[in-house]
Amino acid sequence: MTAILVIVSFLFMEFVAWSNHKYIMHGFMWKFHKDHHVSTTTGIKTIFEKNDIFFLIYAVPAIILIITGLMLGSAYPVAIGAGITLYGFTYFMIHDVIYHQRLPLFTNSRNPYIVAIKRAHDAHHRPSNTNDFNNFGLLVFSTKYFK
Ligand SMILES: [Zn+2]
Ligand SMILES: [Zn+2]
Repeated sequence: MTAILVIVSFLFMEFVAWSNHKYIMHGFMWKFHKDHHVSTTTGIKTIFEKNDIFFLIYAVPAIILIITGLMLGSAYPVAIGAGITLYGFTYFMIHDVIYHQRLPLFTNSRNPYIVAIKRAHDAHHRPSNTNDFNNFGLLVFSTKYFK
């Protein structure tokens, strides 16, 4: 049961990430997300971006769930917190390390899924105009990017 809860929380986080990115980060919190888009168009990279604040925002509920679960001796909140944390780690590795190359690792991955993720995220960072952002999710996207 706890393993299922970890997986369901992980998958649900893709929906949370997609909806927050689309409606909040590109909405009223655009001022924190904007520099992430500027750095990819100008090529000027800084060690930290204002956008990194979202990692902290996502980490807080995960930490609260894990601590609460441990205090109550209940595995369920810990499992949900673990699913959120696992998603955060996966997002960081794929989006920040593999795609944006914030760490010089996996520079030439030929894994077909990774290649497709790169194409899909390209579509987010290179819109034909500023009202035409696509692909707000990360792990789930149109199958056309596999071709
Ligand atoms: Zn964006
Ligand atoms: Zn990006």
